[in-house]
Amino acid sequence: MTPMLKPCPFCGGKARITEVKLLPEAEIMAVGCIRCQAEIKSARQPVQVQRLNICGEWEYISTGLYMEDNAVERWNRRDYHENP
Ligand SMILES: [Zn+2]
Repeated sequence: MTPMLKPCPFCGGKARITEVKLLPEAEIMAVGCIRCQAEIKSARQPVQVQRLNICGEWEYISTGLYMEDNAVERWNRRDYHENP
């Protein structure tokens, strides 16, 4: 699925997803303008919780949830005004 991207908030140019990286600790995504190179990057990071294990040590447990930081949403939240 290709997300809908608003025009560039700086120049009104066409936007596209410029980078998608799946790292073990995060998903990196970038949205950029093809005309002026404006870019927004985001990292979607897994949420971990800390708990004491039976040995009395703190350990991190993955919750399977993600902290949402979505470059597409942030890009679309910036509005481009044709006539400021
Ligand atoms: Zn632009």
